[in-house]
Amino acid sequence: MDLTAAQHVLKQVFGYDAFRPGQQAVIEHVLAGENSLAIMPTGGGKSLCYQIPAMLFDGITVVVSPLISLMKDQVDALNDSGIPATFINSSLEWPDIQERLAALHNGEYKLLYIAPERLDSAAFIQSLASLPIDLLAVDEAHCISQWGHDFRPSYLALSTAIEQLPTHPQVLALTATATEQVATDIRQQLRIDAANEVNTGFARDNLNLTVVKDQDTDRYILDYLKVNAGEAGIIYASTRKEVDRVTKLLQRHHIDVAPYHAGLAEEVRRQNQEDFLYDRVQVMVATNAFGMGIDKSNVRFVIHAQVPGTLEAYYQEAGRAGRDGLPSEAILLYRASDLQIQRFFIDQSEMDEEHRQRAYRKLQVMNRYANTQGCLQQFILHYFGEESAPCGRCSNCLDDREAQDVTTDAQKILSCVIRLRSRYGKAVVAQVLTGAHNQRVLEQHLDDVATYGIMRGQRQKAVGELIDFLTAAGYLASVGGQYPTLKVTAAGGAVLKGETQVFRKMARQVKRLAPEDD
Ligand code: ADP
Ligand code: ZN
Repeated sequence: MDLTAAQHVLKQVFGYDAFRPGQQAVIEHVLAGENSLAIMPTGGGKSLCYQIPAMLFDGITVVVSPLISLMKDQVDALNDSGIPATFINSSLEWPDIQERLAALHNGEYKLLYIAPERLDSAAFIQSLASLPIDLLAVDEAHCISQWGHDFRPSYLALSTAIEQLPTHPQVLALTATATEQVATDIRQQLRIDAANEVNTGFARDNLNLTVVKDQDTDRYILDYLKVNAGEAGIIYASTRKEVDRVTKLLQRHHIDVAPYHAGLAEEVRRQNQEDFLYDRVQVMVATNAFGMGIDKSNVRFVIHAQVPGTLEAYYQEAGRAGRDGLPSEAILLYRASDLQIQRFFIDQSEMDEEHRQRAYRKLQVMNRYANTQGCLQQFILHYFGEESAPCGRCSNCLDDREAQDVTTDAQKILSCVIRLRSRYGKAVVAQVLTGAHNQRVLEQHLDDVATYGIMRGQRQKAVGELIDFLTAAGYLASVGGQYPTLKVTAAGGAVLKGETQVFRKMARQVKRLAPEDD
């Protein structure tokens, strides 16, 4: 099968003139009968990578997708474009399922969408076994990896299911977020050759990244919405309570908003989601329960009112802005105190100890992102294993504040870390430097350490912020998960020896904000 046929389907069925980056390469691998992995940013056009081959293959393409709430919409949209597709998930009664399976047998559908949980049932796999399945498309494939941020045990059943299907369908795994480790894991579990990985890179050139530190969240959001009136956007918060609070705040200011979180009734959630999708409300205020797979192309901004738990989750959520390729904004409102909420989530979760420590380390990466003064896009791409030049668009690239020489204070902090033999974390280091008299310091005789009190007169919080900055800039490393300790890196060593100077752009005076004017 050749590419001309694929191009024909692209034009005739989907109405597009040209492939987007990566689509052609992926489709070539799939049409050549190879197991493949597609890594493309959100909005990159992953769906066509299996929908087009599905139209060209004789048999059926099964799409495994965790987005049960969207399956019906996706399938309806395909049917509207004349593509025979159906879905089977837990929302259906058994007779309904039987009916759809029978229709599949009769060759009435080219695409079948299923939830991964279906594969936990041996009976269901049996019922698939008699179908002519050519291709298994695994959406959100990072869910198969325990190294990822959204591991789902049901995905582990995939490889067994493939073996049990007599047609041994080929696999196309798709994801928008995969570190090298996760990509390797996906390839191993689904038997994909490294040569069949298509990675278009993670850069989203139309997304402007911004970090706003220590500002009044409500005021910021209200001002932002005033300037961007009429634009569609998502505001993420970490808790249901905060979502409800922000929703009410915005409603009081006559902004068209709807809330979305797992505490709302199913119908309410569905209604709000639809209202947002069809532009009946302008802004969605949501927890991370909202968004996976949302295909709303004209989202102009995503604001995180509170810091999320991982950089992967952040980039995925932020990436819901600008799927249409037009300039869009991803704004993180950062306060160090919000990290506490994420720590609480980690503590409350039922993860085993290893995963818990990993979750803490991921949170530290998120914290470094918020505190770096380097290019934000570069930071994210580097995390995903991609090297790049500064983007020139993010809030750090555009930050024109004068940088100040903080070498002396940096040296004080670095030498204190060494005096404390890399055994303590940020809080204790800041306490020792500022000469605190608390119980821990006194009991452990830290007041005898040579650097004790050498930053007396500075606020502990300010010293803590400088430590965060030095960590984000790579002069200090934070080691360990839940209770990380600080260590001086090679770059930090050069600062101590006077070989490098450290420059830091200092926070502007935060405006004292007027009380809310309702
Ligand atoms: P994702 O990679 O996030 O799954 P989708 O497959 O949902 O992205 O595609 C995002 C949007 O881009 C959709 O609205 C889709 O119709 C559109 N799209 C996909 N491929 C093309 C193309 N070759 N030309 C124009 N638009 C496309
Ligand atoms: Zn930048």
